[in-house]
Amino acid sequence: MTGQRVSCPRVILHVDLDAFYASVEQRDDPSLRGRPVVVGGHARRGVVCAASYEARKFGVKSAMPMVRALELCPQAVVLPVRMDHYATISRDFFAILHAHAPLVEGLSLDEAFLDVSGCERLLGEPPAIARSIKARVREELALVASVGVAPGKMSAKIASDLGKPDGLVVVDDVARFLAPLPVGRLWGVGEVMEKSLLAIGVRTIGDLAGGSEHLTARVGADHARHLAALARGEDDRQVEPDRRAVSIGAEDTFETDLGDLELCAEHLLVQGDRAAARLRAEGLRARVVVVKVKYADHTLVTRRTTLGRATADGRLIGQATRRLLAEVPGIDKRGVRLTGVSLAGLEDESGPRQLGFDEPEVARGESLGKALDQIAAKFGDDAIGRALRRK
Ligand SMILES: [Mg+2]
Repeated sequence: MTGQRVSCPRVILHVDLDAFYASVEQRDDPSLRGRPVVVGGHARRGVVCAASYEARKFGVKSAMPMVRALELCPQAVVLPVRMDHYATISRDFFAILHAHAPLVEGLSLDEAFLDVSGCERLLGEPPAIARSIKARVREELALVASVGVAPGKMSAKIASDLGKPDGLVVVDDVARFLAPLPVGRLWGVGEVMEKSLLAIGVRTIGDLAGGSEHLTARVGADHARHLAALARGEDDRQVEPDRRAVSIGAEDTFETDLGDLELCAEHLLVQGDRAAARLRAEGLRARVVVVKVKYADHTLVTRRTTLGRATADGRLIGQATRRLLAEVPGIDKRGVRLTGVSLAGLEDESGPRQLGFDEPEVARGESLGKALDQIAAKFGDDAIGRALRRK
């Protein structure tokens, strides 16, 4: 790991666009501004992918069935998902981020961690960097970003979320910032864990910070120590800009369990599209499609398939998810609380498969292949893995 920054305090920014898809639609069509806008599938069968703040006031949320959203907010304007358009805007958003930090780790189309530790002389104080990012996002993209500034990733992410919309929250004393927050905010505390923590009287992150025998008894010594450390703000996970994603996915937990195969299929189509847009934004293709279904009783089923060739085409990925869903047992009987799509077997879109029609490119691809063979012969396969990851 990067040990050289251990001695100086880290400064992490988490930047997240507010109500991204819905805001893009309101930006592009002024008649939608100030109105409740819901982006998602078909009005009768589809699901909500994004809701504007005007719609959220009525309780509309992502991953909610569209029928429910329209019960809550009948006057909502429902618009289709324009994933390619969002992916294009995402590239411009990341260009702004890269102009402000040496290390940027993208989390989704509209969200990233930036490490600006030790950049004061070059880029200014961290809050000034955050303000500059917000200003450029507003001027160049006509969108609104919320930013959290903190010494660690988790607290930066919580901070950007707490400030929304149009937030800028700077955390100096992490432990103090975290202490009053509900324990469910902590990374690694899901709904089930949250319930068992509430059962032993642990409500806030501060309640966790000291650790407890009860907690150790519930979750085991290692996990208890880990949670207590996170609760105290000890979070040294690095921003990993070069991290080559092993998989890219999209999933949603539903407010009400789904009891219907078609509705699950609909969610998976949208999730496949979201994941495919991320592939395209990162210049990747995927060969493996995985469908994940979690039932109401929390049992998890996954099904995977390998495609004939790698793709970033949401339509092909959607067809695969439909085939895979047919292999998942008991959907109509058991109730589904989560569906997700994950794409693996990732390849660069400029990889050799694309070069077939272009002789010089083929030659270059082949000579690269030969060079890699030579490196492998000299230093072992591991050397190539590292070289490619760094690329
Ligand atoms: Mg966002």
